[in-house]
Amino acid sequence: MTAWYEKTAHEIRDALRQGETTAVEITQNFLDRIDAVDKQVGAYLQIWNESALEQAVQIDARLANGEDVGPLAGVPMSLKDLFCTLRGNTTCASRMLANFESPYNATAVQRLEDAGAIFLGKVNLDEFAMGSSTENSAFQKTRNPWNLNCVPGGSSGGSAASVAADCCTFSLSSDTGGSIRQPASLCGCVGLKPTYGRVSRKGQVAFASSLDQIGPMCKDVEDAALVLNVICGKDPLDATTADLPVPNFSKALTGDVKGLRIGLPKEYFTESLNPEMRALIEQAIDVLKGQGAEFMEVSLPHTDYAVAVYYIICTAEASANLARFDGVRYGFRHPDAKNIQELYVKSKSEGFGPEVQRRIMLGTYVLSSGYYDAYYLKAQKVRSLIKQDFDRAFEQCDVILTPTSPTQAFQFGAKTDPLEMYLSDIYTISTNLAALPGISLPCGLTKDKLPAGLQLIGKPFDEAAILRTAHCYEQNRGFDMGKAPIA
Ligand code: GLN
Repeated sequence: MTAWYEKTAHEIRDALRQGETTAVEITQNFLDRIDAVDKQVGAYLQIWNESALEQAVQIDARLANGEDVGPLAGVPMSLKDLFCTLRGNTTCASRMLANFESPYNATAVQRLEDAGAIFLGKVNLDEFAMGSSTENSAFQKTRNPWNLNCVPGGSSGGSAASVAADCCTFSLSSDTGGSIRQPASLCGCVGLKPTYGRVSRKGQVAFASSLDQIGPMCKDVEDAALVLNVICGKDPLDATTADLPVPNFSKALTGDVKGLRIGLPKEYFTESLNPEMRALIEQAIDVLKGQGAEFMEVSLPHTDYAVAVYYIICTAEASANLARFDGVRYGFRHPDAKNIQELYVKSKSEGFGPEVQRRIMLGTYVLSSGYYDAYYLKAQKVRSLIKQDFDRAFEQCDVILTPTSPTQAFQFGAKTDPLEMYLSDIYTISTNLAALPGISLPCGLTKDKLPAGLQLIGKPFDEAAILRTAHCYEQNRGFDMGKAPIA
């Protein structure tokens, strides 16, 4: 029998349309795969066996009727468990929301369902998407399918691991400072963070509202374009979505990068870049040069401040967003509090894990009177300077190329100092601060047989350019990444 679980979304779409198989067969094939390998990987928090098969039955019936079933009909996928879904719970991998049932679907989730996608279940993450290794989940460890002793990255570790272990075709993820791109890099997936405002955040549990953006984690670039087509566009339920025409991103994959100007920011290619990563990135640059792209050095002079600025802004916004989880309105309510003050303190202290508590305290501090100007306001000013750096760089080039992560996947427990963990996002954070689109895609394996990723950053709303460049590289890189060694 064909292992449908190894296929991409576009391959499954084509096979179904040509009547080679049924949505039920495909879905069962994925459920069997999850049953066989997810005990080792630990990607799924909830597996929706029954409803997935029900969705598949409906797709098959509609296909048999000759109905227009939508661009993702019969394609089985996973959802990061911080998107509100009518099915199952929406936990954010937090004890606080362990039993929370959403009364509605997030807009992106609804659009996927309307496009015919089949939901296999919800996957693990760092609690409330805060982290870079998925070790901050309150529920379980997720392992990297390339090496089970290593983390899958984070916060979308469950998404990346479920894709890399062939336990879904693609995953819906979110990225606030790198949470799609860094785990994609560590697990050998293609991860796309669209421009802020491209995809509705309605129904995404908010972490840092000026930085959060939803995007796909996929097996190839063509799938990233396909999924973006489905989820993007204006949503009356999210005032920050841009009312701009949406191109057909699949049509952007022309294979042509002749004359495309690609900038290499000198601040990203310093001595501190791991030599093995650098060598793999340089090979990728050569592939794109061979296809006619022109490379140049650019400068993003405020890069050194990005991590500090991000951890002030994201914690400030998180402290405001997470204030709603107070034991009264949503989630965990401590059973034996004597008064309202004690109810708040006990519910939050037991409902939130240590990293979430750290961020709430940091965020409250930088917003408090007396410190607001010194930290929050100053961080906002530097954020503008970081954005201006990109505006200037994009006067010279069309796309910027960088590494995605400073290292390959690391071992569990390797980064116990929070600051060390925060530095995992050094190459991805600026993209969120400047509200730009970014994609990570695999560019080879290190000598430890772990994936390395490269990042392409685009002008605002020019996802088409980074997808086109990524696709051209993927088609011409001359090697196959192979599969994670898990069975
Ligand atoms: N690792 C970063 C953080 O901990 C980014 C997380 C994210 O993008 N959600 O905040």
